[in-house]
Amino acid sequence: MQHSGLGAQFALEGSETSAIAQVAVELPLETPLDYRIPQDLRTSCQVGQRVLVPVGKRQVLGYIVGLASTSAVADLKELVEVLDDTPLLTPALLQLTRWIAEYYLCPWGQVLKAAVPEGFRVQTDVVYALMATAQDNPQAWPQGRAGEVLEYLAHHGGQRQHDLERVLGVPDIAPLLRRLQHQGLLLRQQQRLAPKTQPRLVTVVRVCLPPAEVSVLQQHMQQRSPSQAAVLAVLQEQPEWEMAALRQRLPGAPAAVKRLAARAAVEVVQVEKMRAVVPAPPRLASPPPTLNQAQQQALGQIETRLAAADSTPVLLYGVTGSGKTEVYMRAIGIALRQGKTALVLVPEIALTDQLVERFVARFASHIAVLHSGLSAGERFDEWRRLACGEARIAIGARSAVFAPLANLGLVIVDEEHDTSYKQEETPRYNARDVAIVRAQQSRAVVVLGSATPALETFHNARSGKYLSLSLPQRVEDKPLPGITVIDQRAHATPNERVISTPLYQAIATCLQRQEQCLILINRRGFAAYLQCRDCGAVPQCAHCSVSLTYHRRDRTLKCHYCDFSHPAPAVCPACSSPTLRPFGLGTQQVEEVLQALFPTARLARMDRDTTRAKAAHQRILRTLGSGAIDILVGTQMIAKGHDYPNITLVGVVSADATLAIPDFRAPERLFQLLTQVAGRAGRGPAYGQVFIQTYRPEHYSIAFAQHHDFPGFFHDEVQRRQAMLYPPYTRLARVIVDSPDTARAEAASRWLGAVLQRRIAHTPHLTLLGPAEAPLAKLNDRYRWHMLVKAASSRALHQCLKEALAEAHQDREQLRAARISVDIDPVTFL
Ligand code: ADP
Ligand code: ZN
Ligand code: ZN
Repeated sequence: MQHSGLGAQFALEGSETSAIAQVAVELPLETPLDYRIPQDLRTSCQVGQRVLVPVGKRQVLGYIVGLASTSAVADLKELVEVLDDTPLLTPALLQLTRWIAEYYLCPWGQVLKAAVPEGFRVQTDVVYALMATAQDNPQAWPQGRAGEVLEYLAHHGGQRQHDLERVLGVPDIAPLLRRLQHQGLLLRQQQRLAPKTQPRLVTVVRVCLPPAEVSVLQQHMQQRSPSQAAVLAVLQEQPEWEMAALRQRLPGAPAAVKRLAARAAVEVVQVEKMRAVVPAPPRLASPPPTLNQAQQQALGQIETRLAAADSTPVLLYGVTGSGKTEVYMRAIGIALRQGKTALVLVPEIALTDQLVERFVARFASHIAVLHSGLSAGERFDEWRRLACGEARIAIGARSAVFAPLANLGLVIVDEEHDTSYKQEETPRYNARDVAIVRAQQSRAVVVLGSATPALETFHNARSGKYLSLSLPQRVEDKPLPGITVIDQRAHATPNERVISTPLYQAIATCLQRQEQCLILINRRGFAAYLQCRDCGAVPQCAHCSVSLTYHRRDRTLKCHYCDFSHPAPAVCPACSSPTLRPFGLGTQQVEEVLQALFPTARLARMDRDTTRAKAAHQRILRTLGSGAIDILVGTQMIAKGHDYPNITLVGVVSADATLAIPDFRAPERLFQLLTQVAGRAGRGPAYGQVFIQTYRPEHYSIAFAQHHDFPGFFHDEVQRRQAMLYPPYTRLARVIVDSPDTARAEAASRWLGAVLQRRIAHTPHLTLLGPAEAPLAKLNDRYRWHMLVKAASSRALHQCLKEALAEAHQDREQLRAARISVDIDPVTFL
């Protein structure tokens, strides 16, 4: 029996006598549930297995998280079915997910749901089947529709109501089914549905004879059956073929194979062939560069820690283009040589195709890729390749932090500051922080890399909590790009509203030299909003308290929060005046303006609208890489880690828009965005240039970015944080209360605020801000209120929240029709 290595509560040593399984189910329940294990399953039940258990009238998927011989609950139900022979979840994954559940204050079962790929999910439903007695006695069946139903079930086995309605073409079959049930002809039962995702099987033809006999048979067949002879000839080249490949060579192969199988010369079998996700490595990979001194030094430090299995987090602070990725790859090489595995987290994998290619060129089939852009089947296969040890490096976005890697030696978090590591739905975890905990639990080395580390991370490095390594220069002494800040107030003519004269001239020069440029505008669509010139009305989303964004391409107004959209009105909805005008810039408008200014330039746009289709990101970036795009306009997507040597110019249109967001990290986000997008310029032989247009040239985020001065920015900003008691000097939790009813949202939130306030009053170093209406006061038809809890330590924060929530959940009446979400270490405040 495996010991799960958890605390005593869930890891009671399993033994032959374990009669109770503790099961975390995928439902919002506070604790795992106890179930009796049926006698015949007692010896085979193991921690980490998936099981089906009854909850109320339903059967749901759960995971065994502990075994025990007794339970405090008297009248226990039995578990229905054990779904795995060997545990799907390793003790390490159970330990990690349990930590997440406790730290982020969410149910363990829901963390497991997020950790396990969709393809392993099992669904159950109510199924109607013929009673055995009815099966034997068809003469007694009723006529008409009822008879048809029974006939169908007799042939096809149990069916769901919905499926019966569909195949028999009956709109509402429920009354009929009830009647048949009463008559004792039908049985209504919960049944597990066939999994949607299954191993992919292919047909394979395999020789069964020794080579000499194949050769004799082939000779013999040449006269009698040329097609069989031809198949045998091909099988002499290679004794095993996929049927599809064989048929491509010899169109008549299937028939010939059938006859050869009848002679027992070949066999035809179904074998699993995993879905291919990772691209094939290039035939000619360029040799790895020689590390420069800073890289060598950093690698040396990481190597020492790998040897010592020291999981003190390592910050690799390296300016853009300083060769961080090369250091990651060398470190992974060392971990693999030690027989260990590696986990690489990247912010949004769709945007880091190039990085995956570099890894594949170096490590080929050792790599598995995990991210939400894969189909359920692809994810299922990549996960299993890792679990069985065939792949030893997992690269992926946020949820790859749960990759089933055994013997983990190294964890890399690239662009560790990126907000996409934070999941904005339950479980609201930050994959960067989970990665640190995972590394500590498995005694692996964890490296956080960035050119613009999060303030919290840099603070930890400064204070000695993390090891600090730096790559202060670009590789091969390439200079960082020169940055010019353009005061848009001085370029106010209508012609210069979008692209100022200096930026215009720089683009013209860039195009003349046949170099490429990126133009960043951090809003998609054509204009921020439409406004009536007569009455001032701005069309709002019907479901959220935000104005709708104008998309001129398809003449619609879209909500960027809930995706609601409708045709743009021709006249003002409030006063019917025909004077609705677009205000504020978006990517579409910038693209149009640029196309008008540079009619022969090849333009492309990259934002959420142009990248909805699968692999659309890759297509745009490949085209950029091939040189077929001169100007790429886009949102923050274009700022991410791309490494294209022919990009020499980066323009930022209206840089300060992000400062308007009510978020204490807004200046930090702006600094990061500017530094990252600037980092795309001048990575090749030619010098790079950046133009930042802004109405607030004096803002310190812009000034520090202009001088590539991260330490300076940190020094200033961290003092503001200290003065305001914000992270890294405090810990935060945000509590959101929402409801479809505006009065309920407010009342429940005020009541919960009072519960929290009572606890906080007795605890030093805790403060409550709010409750107040959230800046995004309505989202998806739910009204939202929020409050912030600030604490000196994470322990105090958790203690207070746990107790307050427990108290709140006891008084359900007060929370009627309202929902509470707790967000620990929040990154958005809207
Ligand atoms: P970062 O991740 O810090 O932005 P990269 O690792 O992408 O930087 O490196 C930028 C480019 O420099 C890549 O094309 C990489 O192959 C190359 N490179 C990395 N290290 C060296 C080196 N020591 N000498 C020459 N080129 C290097
Ligand atoms: Zn109007
Ligand atoms: Zn909306």
